[in-house]
Amino acid sequence: MRLTFLGTGTSFGVPVVGCDCPVCSSSDPRDQRTRHGALVSWEEGATLLVDTPPELRLQLLREGVDRVDAVWFTHGHADHLHGIDDLRIFSLRTRKSVPVFVASGFRDEISQRFRYIFDPEVRPNQGSSKPELDLHDVDEGGEGPLIMGRRVQPLAVPHGSLTVLGFRVGDLGYITDAKTLPPATLERLAGVRLLVLNALWFGHPHPSHFNVEEAVAMAERVGAERTYLTHLTHRASHAELERRLPPTVRPAWDGLTVEIDGSRIREIRSSSPEPGLTGFPASSHPHFRGES
Ligand SMILES: [Zn+2]
Ligand SMILES: [Zn+2]
Ligand SMILES: [Zn+2]
Repeated sequence: MRLTFLGTGTSFGVPVVGCDCPVCSSSDPRDQRTRHGALVSWEEGATLLVDTPPELRLQLLREGVDRVDAVWFTHGHADHLHGIDDLRIFSLRTRKSVPVFVASGFRDEISQRFRYIFDPEVRPNQGSSKPELDLHDVDEGGEGPLIMGRRVQPLAVPHGSLTVLGFRVGDLGYITDAKTLPPATLERLAGVRLLVLNALWFGHPHPSHFNVEEAVAMAERVGAERTYLTHLTHRASHAELERRLPPTVRPAWDGLTVEIDGSRIREIRSSSPEPGLTGFPASSHPHFRGES
């Protein structure tokens, strides 16, 4: 199973427009963080996309993605959803609807916000198209849907007034935009080997997101072999995170692919890094060769 981080930034992205702080002007390409998205793939190339951030098209091009079999929406915040129109190419090319998994309470809202997609009465102009998406409800307390032959278990986490749907598939637990992990979610994460958690910055606790310290404490509680932090802001550079995090917790970065291969978890090169988007020359990028 492989996990590719498409976007590892918080809602403003990094650099932040008009900001000249050291992280926003950093020359380390890992300090360029697009909005939150990820890809999980397993046997036979089955590919699950997690969220559709505003930079989705650029992220898919960067990683050379030509196939999305299903989409898992964590929640409806703009930074996780507003690239939804970029799914159009997949239904157009396969002439099939793309299955889209959402929390059951989110169906009405997403249908209203993107009426042109979900209302069958709304047809695109002649000669145009819209994403053809097939909504599936996920019961947050249920065992979760089978997606391309694998059970994807929902992990509900509180995020302000919303509930976010993380998930577990096999040895991977994936959570973003959490403020805590409730007991039921911790139970479902038992024995997970690879974990993803969100974190904004060091210190200054936020009402609806983990800061780094909270995420690290939770990572230690779950006890996965490896935890990656995502949804990061311009208040912490990749280098600072690497320096200050404990050995089992690492900062993710746009384009990083992590593979669970039997007993090993290893970082591998992203499929097609494109200078200018992630722009990391191999020579300056120790993580290309890094393994556990
Ligand atoms: Zn900045
Ligand atoms: Zn959010
Ligand atoms: Zn978010």
